[in-house]
Amino acid sequence: MKNYKLLTPGPLTTTETVKAVMMFDHCTWDEDYKGITQEIRRKLLELAQVEETEYTAVLMQGSGTFGVESVLSSVVPAQGKVLLLSNGAYGERAAKICQYHKIPCIHISQAYNKTPDAAEARRALEEHPEITHVMMIHSETTSGILNDIQSIGDLAYAHGKTFIVDAMSSFGAVDIPVKDWHIDFLVSSANKCIQGVPGFSFILANRKLLMESQGCARSLSLDLYDQWQGMEKDGKWRYTSPTHTVLAFRQALKELEQEGGVAARHERYQKNMDALVENFEALGFKLYVDRPWQGPIIATFLYPQGKHFDFKDMYAYIKERGYAIYPGKLTDADTFRIGVIGEIYQEDIQRLTEIMKSYMDTVKER
Ligand SMILES: *Cc1c(COP(=O)(O)O)cnc(C)c1O
Repeated sequence: MKNYKLLTPGPLTTTETVKAVMMFDHCTWDEDYKGITQEIRRKLLELAQVEETEYTAVLMQGSGTFGVESVLSSVVPAQGKVLLLSNGAYGERAAKICQYHKIPCIHISQAYNKTPDAAEARRALEEHPEITHVMMIHSETTSGILNDIQSIGDLAYAHGKTFIVDAMSSFGAVDIPVKDWHIDFLVSSANKCIQGVPGFSFILANRKLLMESQGCARSLSLDLYDQWQGMEKDGKWRYTSPTHTVLAFRQALKELEQEGGVAARHERYQKNMDALVENFEALGFKLYVDRPWQGPIIATFLYPQGKHFDFKDMYAYIKERGYAIYPGKLTDADTFRIGVIGEIYQEDIQRLTEIMKSYMDTVKER
C-alpha cells in the first residue's frame, strides 16, 4: 500500500520513533509497566498546570467518546441535571450519551460557526437552579471552531456548578490552565494533539468531585471512580490495557517536551493553519468559521461556487499524491476539512496546496 500522511484530526500521522516503541509486548502487571502508567498520569497533570493534591489523571480504555461517556455516566448523580452547550456533532454526541443513560439534560445548541453564548447559558442557569453540571466542547472538530470555554467556566463556577470540558482535539496543543478556567473534568485522548496512537482516553479530574462520585456510575466498564481507585493505588488498569498504545503515548509525551511543550506545538500548528487558510483562500475556497474563531487544529472549507466538486474524486486524487483529507460534517453546506495536526509541517501545507491547485485544473465548470 502506498503510504500517505493524514490531514485528519486524529488518528494522525505519528513519528517513526513513536511507532517504533510499539515493537514490544509488555507485561501488564509488572512494576515497570505500572510505573509507566504513573509517569503518564503525572505528566498529564503537568500539562494541565494543576497540582496532584487537587487534580488527578485517569486513563480509560477506548476512544475519546468512551472517556466522555465515562465522565457523564459516572459523575452526574441520579438527581443531577446537565446543561449542555453545543455547536457541532461532538456536542450532539454528548447529548446522545445523556439520553442513553437517562441523564436529564438541557441542551442549548448553537449555529456551528458560533461559539456557545454565555448570556444564554446564564439565563438557563438562572431559570433552572436544579442544574448540577455544565458541559461543552473546546475545539469542535466538526467545524474547527475554538470555543470560549473560559467564560463558560467562570459562569459555571460563579453558580457553583461542576464544569465538564471535551478538550479532545485541543489538549496538548492549546494552552488550557485547567484550574484557572474552573474545569472540573477534562477529557482528551491518546491519538490527538499529544500525537500518540489510538487506544485510550484520559480524564483530568477534580479530586474532591471525583471522590464524591463514588457509587454513582451507570456502567461497570466505564466507572470512572473505580478505574481511578485501581490506578491510584499502584498504576494498575482495572481491565486489559492497550499496552502498545501506552508505550507509544509515553514516547509521544517525551517528544512533546522535546519540541518545546504546548507553546511550541501550538506555534507549529498555528503556522500550518495560517499557511493553509491563506493558500486555500487564494485558490478560491472559503473558510466556514470566521477567522477570529478559527482554531489551529482543523479547517472547514466551502467548495467554490460554479465548480463541479466531487469529494470522492478529490480525495482519491490527493491520496494518490500522498495525503488523506477529511470529508465535511455539516448538514447544510458542501464542505471538506483539512487537519494540520500530527507530524505535519509547512512543506506539507505547500505540497498540499500544489496538489489542490493541479486538481482544480481538472474540475469542470458547472
Ligand atoms: C475526536 C473527538 C472525540 C472523540 O471521538 P472518538 O472517535 O471517540 O475518538 C470527541 N470530541 C471531539 C471534539 C473530538 O475531536
